[in-house]
Amino acid sequence: MSSLANFDPDVAAIIEKERLRQLNGLELIASENIVSKRVLEAMSSIMTNKYAEGYPGKRYYGGCEFHDMVENLARDRLCSLFGAEHANVQPHSGSQANQAVYFAYLNHKDRIMSQSLTQGGHLSHGSRVSITGRWYSIFHYGVDPETEMLDYAAIEEMARIVRPNLIICGASAYPREIDFKAFQEIAETVDARCMADIAHIAGLCATGHHNSPVGVVDVVTTTTHKTLRGPRGGAIMCSKEDAVTIDRSVFPGMQGGPLMHVIAAKAVCFKEAMQPSFTEYCGQIIRNTRAMAEVLADEGLDIVSGGSDNHLILLNLTGLSTDGAHLTGLEAENALGEAGITVNKNTIPREQLSPFVTSGLRIGTPVVTSRGMKEEEMRQIGHWIARVLKDVARDKNSKKAIREVKEEVTALASKYPLYPEEI
Ligand code: PLP
Repeated sequence: MSSLANFDPDVAAIIEKERLRQLNGLELIASENIVSKRVLEAMSSIMTNKYAEGYPGKRYYGGCEFHDMVENLARDRLCSLFGAEHANVQPHSGSQANQAVYFAYLNHKDRIMSQSLTQGGHLSHGSRVSITGRWYSIFHYGVDPETEMLDYAAIEEMARIVRPNLIICGASAYPREIDFKAFQEIAETVDARCMADIAHIAGLCATGHHNSPVGVVDVVTTTTHKTLRGPRGGAIMCSKEDAVTIDRSVFPGMQGGPLMHVIAAKAVCFKEAMQPSFTEYCGQIIRNTRAMAEVLADEGLDIVSGGSDNHLILLNLTGLSTDGAHLTGLEAENALGEAGITVNKNTIPREQLSPFVTSGLRIGTPVVTSRGMKEEEMRQIGHWIARVLKDVARDKNSKKAIREVKEEVTALASKYPLYPEEI
């Protein structure tokens, strides 16, 4: 950092401010994590200097022998981590991995069935504001209005009517286990392909804390930076028969030169994910989320679907009302942010407000679990969240709970390093 600080103190100072924000606060964004120093080291290496368009053994540039080695390592490790036949580690992001799959299997205007954005899905699954929603014909399924969980019979009925070319399962804000086998079976009954996007739960799937879709559904996409705890990026896993189609779709279909420094860091991440300590970490994520969900429920807050099977909790804020109006996701996110607890507003089933306001909050435990926190700390954080939300719901201008909780948050967070020994 010293050369950066000398040459560009502006950028160095911003990075240092962000480091302190991460260190002194509680990051409960469900899609984030903290990478190890080893992953950071690979990501900031000279592997970034090279163009390596193509694939190992078949590049469009000379001098790629070491890039071939590292990409082969990353591919092989991802295959053995998930038991996949083929892996592509080049997608720059989860969204690009998804688009590469659509480009591989679909034509313009083909029909996609996917979980709606307002009920847990992702933008890249066909939202109207994404290219995926413009280019393909999208039909969204949601969750059952009573249970707030996926209703596989209803999804099958919809598939029989829609006759989709592709069914997507996997979500960004769904706290329950997803039955990937059921989705594949539904897809087969209507002659569609099935894609599972495990961006959020990849770490849980790799370690047996969630059923894995690899080898079950036709194709699996993921990000590498959420529960998998690697560098920011995407990956695709598929059968040997589909390998060439998928690879061609990523490059030259979607992307140019791969980010080789990120691929090196992905290889490190996959090796880390094979260690027993990573399996233990993912188990702790689940225990931590359950502990926090129990406290939030005991505090009288409304948890969408009544609980969580994974790394995230979705809170319905419509019961926290003041003056006839309820506390919005935006207000809750801001209040908790002032108290040093970073969460994000989120739409909930039967949402009435815009995505910029929302009636819900998404809370995730991967980051605080990486920092070494356990059930006791989760219960404490759950009480703090409830205290702040109830206080601002009572009086939107109140800073009382925010001030009190902020002090306690800083005291707790600063005890847990950003790079504990175990990572
Ligand atoms: N798929 C799902 C289910 C996600 O939740 C996300 C991101 O949150 C993505 C894909 C997109 O990943 P990226 O931000 O890397 O494009």
